[in-house]
Amino acid sequence: MANRVFNFNPGPSTLPLEVLKIVQEELLDYRGTGMSIIESSHRSPEYDEINETAITLVREIFGLNDNYHVMFLTGGASQQFFQIPMNFLVGGKTGAYIDTGTWSNKAIKEANIVAKAYVAFDGKAVEYKHIPTQDELDIPADAAYLHVTTNNTIKGTQFHYIPETNLPLIADVSSDIASRRLDYTKFIMFYAGSQKNLGPSGVTLVVMRDDLLQKSNEELPTLLNYKTQAEKKSLYNTPPSFSIYVVKLVLEWIKKQGGLHGIEKINEKKKDLIYGVIDNNSDYFKGTVEKESRSWMNLTMRLPSEELEKKFISDAKAVGFVGLKGHRSVGGVRVSLYNALPLEGAEKLAQFMEDFKKKN
Ligand SMILES: *Cc1c(COP(=O)(O)O)cnc(C)c1O
Repeated sequence: MANRVFNFNPGPSTLPLEVLKIVQEELLDYRGTGMSIIESSHRSPEYDEINETAITLVREIFGLNDNYHVMFLTGGASQQFFQIPMNFLVGGKTGAYIDTGTWSNKAIKEANIVAKAYVAFDGKAVEYKHIPTQDELDIPADAAYLHVTTNNTIKGTQFHYIPETNLPLIADVSSDIASRRLDYTKFIMFYAGSQKNLGPSGVTLVVMRDDLLQKSNEELPTLLNYKTQAEKKSLYNTPPSFSIYVVKLVLEWIKKQGGLHGIEKINEKKKDLIYGVIDNNSDYFKGTVEKESRSWMNLTMRLPSEELEKKFISDAKAVGFVGLKGHRSVGGVRVSLYNALPLEGAEKLAQFMEDFKKKN
C-alpha cells in the first residue's frame, strides 16, 4: 500500500486497513447478493445479521449484559447533547456536568436550553489543562445524572479514572471509546460519534441501561424518545446502514486485537513514544496540558514558534504524516493516536520529531 499515509486526523480519522480491504472486497457484491450492502434494504436478512452482530459485539467488547440497550443513532454525539436532557431533565430536574472543554461546554449549553445544567467542575478556571480529581468534583445530591466527557479531543486531556458518584453516570466517550480497559458498567449510559475510534461518520453508538431507558420522556416526538429506537433495535426508520456495517467490521477488528486489553497495550506504547520525545526535548516540544491529565488519544504540543509549527506540519505532510495541525481554537500540533493508527506510525513520527528538532 505504497500511497497510504499515516493519518493522524482527529476525526473522521484513520480506519484499520484490514477493514477497508473487506469493505472494498464486499462492495460490489455483498456475500453473493449481487449488490452492495449500500444498495440493500435495511429489512433484508443480510442487514439484520450486521445489526445483530454489531449489537452483540458491543455487549461483548464492553462487558455488558442484556440489561444494556445498544442503539445506532444519527445526529452525531452533538445530538445526544440535547436528546439526553430532553429525555431525563423533565419536571424541573437538573443535570450535573463536568466541564473539561469544548465538548462538555456544548453539552452544558444544550442542557441549559432544554432545562438546567449544574457545573460540577469548571475547567475554564484552569484553562482546561487539568482533569479534576475526585476531590475537586462538586456533585450535587439531587441531580438527575452526572455527565462526563472522558477525553477532551481538542485540548488533549483525558480522565484516567471513572468519577465516583451516587448519581447515574452518563459519559461522552466519543474520542476514546474502546481505547483501553475501563469498567463501562459504571456508566448508566455512554455514547460516541463513530468517526474517531469506531468507523466512518454518520452513526452514533448510544448504549443505555434499561432502568434509565424506562425514564425516557414519553411526550417527545417519536424519534427523540430513546425507547423508540431501543425497542426497534435502531430500525424504526432507515438507519445509516453503510456506516453501521463498517462499525461492525471495526468491532470485529477490535475483538481480533484482543479486545480492550489488546488495544490498550498498543495504545500505551504509542502514546509513550510520542510523550517520550516531548519529555526528552521539553525545551523544544512543549506539552500543553498537565502530565497527569494527558490524553492517550490526542497529544497536544507547541513548538518554539508558530513558524516552526507550520514547518513541522508541512514537512511532516511531505513525508506522509497527515492531520497534525492543532484545533483552530488552540493552535500548535495535535497527534491523534486513535486505535486504528498503527504502532509503526507512532514509531516513525517519534523519529521524525527528533530529526526535525536537530534540523530546525
Ligand atoms: C468529536 C466529538 C464530539 C462531536 O461529535 P459529532 O459526532 O460531530 O457530533 C462530541 N464529543 C467529543 C468528546 C468529541 O470528540
